[in-house]
Amino acid sequence: MAASAGNPQGPIVVIAGGVGAARFLEGAVAAFSPAGIVAIVNVGDDLELAGLHISPDLDTVTYTLAEQVNPETGWGVRDDSFAALERLRALGGSDWFTLGDTDLGTHLYRTERLAAGAPLSVVTGEIAAASGIGCTILPVSDGRLRTIVQTDDGELPFQEYFVRRRQTDTVRGLRFDGAESVEPAPGVHEAITQARAVVIAPSNPFLSIGPVLAVPGLRDCLLTTQAPVVAVSPIIAGAAVKGPAAGIMRSLGHDVSALGVARLYADLIDVFVIDQQDAALAGAIERDTGVGCLATQTLMHGLDEKRALALQTVQAARTAGENRDG
Ligand code: GDP
Repeated sequence: MAASAGNPQGPIVVIAGGVGAARFLEGAVAAFSPAGIVAIVNVGDDLELAGLHISPDLDTVTYTLAEQVNPETGWGVRDDSFAALERLRALGGSDWFTLGDTDLGTHLYRTERLAAGAPLSVVTGEIAAASGIGCTILPVSDGRLRTIVQTDDGELPFQEYFVRRRQTDTVRGLRFDGAESVEPAPGVHEAITQARAVVIAPSNPFLSIGPVLAVPGLRDCLLTTQAPVVAVSPIIAGAAVKGPAAGIMRSLGHDVSALGVARLYADLIDVFVIDQQDAALAGAIERDTGVGCLATQTLMHGLDEKRALALQTVQAARTAGENRDG
């Protein structure tokens, strides 16, 4: 939360989960100089499978910005083949997690580099550079941070809940394994501290942004940065655009609306971007949380909409920062 309008020379920092964030980032790199954008990405979804280190949100952001993403799913590689997965299945190996052949190459590279001692942030930078990506992609931490979902059947590792059991369990609580001992990756603290603006992307507040905020020091960094902080609501007209965000908000006792999201972020943000369909909620959000709102088109279809949302979101942050100074 800002004490001033932020450093005009600083980066635009985007706190990111997977698909929603990646789409927002596509707009940001189209609207601003990519070299001035830093994505700080959730690693709570990471898993080890068949000996491989898989980082779904880092890969979704990377494939999207590299224009390689599968447009039908929003994750995975476009036109990928699945020969390795079919072989794994034929052998009776674990086949519940979709691994395309090209995607598998990424996991092999990451796993080999991590085994050789390279930190995840370095490996992520290597993959981004090799993919021709001009912005900086950072895992929130190089440490081992894993989201654990508490359900009526007990605690489930994140991907057990999300992929294997297809988000059918009611989420009773969340825990971020390792959160006490991990540190922010190199560059994370500096980027937020020196930012021109910080954007909390339209991502799942509990599953994607929650693990990022659980990293020690992250919340404080957002509270003390001079940069204005803005969030974009992933909830539009009382529903998630996709994924389990609405159901989780409900089961954890939150209002399933842009107001419910605003309450989650109120202490961290200077302004909140809501969809134009929720424009009537702006007054209630401002009264309830003390945070001002911008209502605009937040549903991103084509690149023009993504670019427009990025421009308006950063401008809303700058204006909120200036007003605070004013
Ligand atoms: P995941 O890790 O792939 O589930 O991705 P995220 O956590 O980044 O994104 C999921 C959230 O993004 C969901 O709650 C969606 O409602 C939201 N989302 C996806 N696309 C859009 C969009 O075009 N606009 C807005 N406002 N939210 C979106």
